[in-house]
Amino acid sequence: MSGQPSISLQYARIPPCYHAHLDDTYIRRSGGIAVNPTEMLKLTNTLTGSQEVFAPLDGSTVRMYTCGPTVHNHAHIGNLRTYVFEDILRRHLHSKGWALKHVMNITDIDDKIINRAIEAGQDIKTYAEPYTRAFFEDCGKLRIERPDIITPATDYIPEMIDLVQRLLDAGYAYPEGDSIYYRISRFPNYGRLSRLDRRELKIGARIDADEYEKEEPSDFVLWKAPKNEKEPHWQAPFGAGRPGWHIECSAMAMKQLGETLDIHCGGVDNIFPHHENEIAQSEAVTGKPFVRFWVHGEHLLVEGEKMAKSKGNFYTLRDLLEREYDPLAIRYLLVSVPYRKQLNFTWDGLVAAQRSLERIKEFLFRLNTARLGPGSNPQLDAEAAAAFENALDDDLNTAQALAVVFDLIRKCNTALSDAVVKEDDRKRIFRFFQNVDERLAIVPPMEAIVQGDEQIESLIANRNEARRKRDFASADLIRQQLLDRGVVIEDTREGTKWRRK
Ligand code: AMP
Ligand code: ZN
Repeated sequence: MSGQPSISLQYARIPPCYHAHLDDTYIRRSGGIAVNPTEMLKLTNTLTGSQEVFAPLDGSTVRMYTCGPTVHNHAHIGNLRTYVFEDILRRHLHSKGWALKHVMNITDIDDKIINRAIEAGQDIKTYAEPYTRAFFEDCGKLRIERPDIITPATDYIPEMIDLVQRLLDAGYAYPEGDSIYYRISRFPNYGRLSRLDRRELKIGARIDADEYEKEEPSDFVLWKAPKNEKEPHWQAPFGAGRPGWHIECSAMAMKQLGETLDIHCGGVDNIFPHHENEIAQSEAVTGKPFVRFWVHGEHLLVEGEKMAKSKGNFYTLRDLLEREYDPLAIRYLLVSVPYRKQLNFTWDGLVAAQRSLERIKEFLFRLNTARLGPGSNPQLDAEAAAAFENALDDDLNTAQALAVVFDLIRKCNTALSDAVVKEDDRKRIFRFFQNVDERLAIVPPMEAIVQGDEQIESLIANRNEARRKRDFASADLIRQQLLDRGVVIEDTREGTKWRRK
């Protein structure tokens, strides 16, 4: 291909089948609760800077790409915040009844990995593999669903070589030294995503120590010549080398998802230069818009500061679990702030998150163990399901979605005390919480709550043990806990008896 392609960045209209498709699946996915099917998902698109209604281009399958981890170390809680937000998005897209093809890459080749592997006397695969495994273990602990396709960069080298070759053929790339660079002056839309003009781009550009003289400082490397024999490299028609970081995402995204993706996401630091460069590489060869919706999550700060090893405020999930924090509380904290707002991680915030989980658990326990009369009082939760969906439709407003959950808890607790909750309400409210859990994955395990009797018996056993040791303070505390859950106990000659209030 030669010459500048005419790129028309027009966004798909919502296909006519959208509502029909949404209707019954949406009702099914929201736990059988009918919600307004005309509500639509709005997402902030970094490309336009505004909220737009989202639907997949083909009306049925969302093609989504996520920039995955660089596996030179364990992921930190900031990285994990981004993956949690993408998980909420994933779950929400599914709830709409759309199929989802979600691809995530693993950057298993970069300067840090190479250097550390050399230091450890290992090849890069051997060095990176435990970190890749650890990453998915961390995701599992935080209930982050696994993407449908995972693409390690080193498995897609032929696709990257092909893309670099096409860029060279079309005049978008040039050799310098033994490396290949992208000529950004050939791509007039460069800077559009990050809204940077040419002058700012020059100031922002870095020249790596190992880079040769480029035509322009902001030109970026597509293919790096090895500095020495030890560095891993692959043969290509334009010389031996290894891919630059940006080319991997263009090559793998287009290979798996086609030339135009529905959604591409990552953290805000990815906007420039990574995503800007992905656009330049992809659109130069296809002449088509690379991505319809760019969705970026804001960063996590620790006690108001950027995380840094030197500041001693740098935490991996493992660090927090070693301090015995509950992974569900960590997820709760990460979910509690909408993705477009900075999240200030504090220890107090984590304790508050744990308390919120306890409130949910206490409520579900109480609802489960309450003695209820027959019938139904539907106005109790009449608004909740729709309000919850509307919150998430509104650019994934997770804070608002949680506010809906706690409003319902408050209302139901009062109603339980006034004995106006009926047998059918219990089933409906449990279904609502089941849906909350499918969507936000923050509800303490239902099994533990729903097997009420066993939990009661075990608390009573703990209390009796405390009494045996004459630890009456603990025994009284447990009695109060049981009372809070609607359970009255009575010590008799035959042992402790209990009944629901
Ligand atoms: P990396 O492994 O450095 O490529 O980063 C993986 C993901 O984490 C990317 O989507 C980054 O944008 C994101 N990320 C990096 N630092 C933070 C942070 N402090 N808060 C939130 N996300 C981050
Ligand atoms: Zn990427």
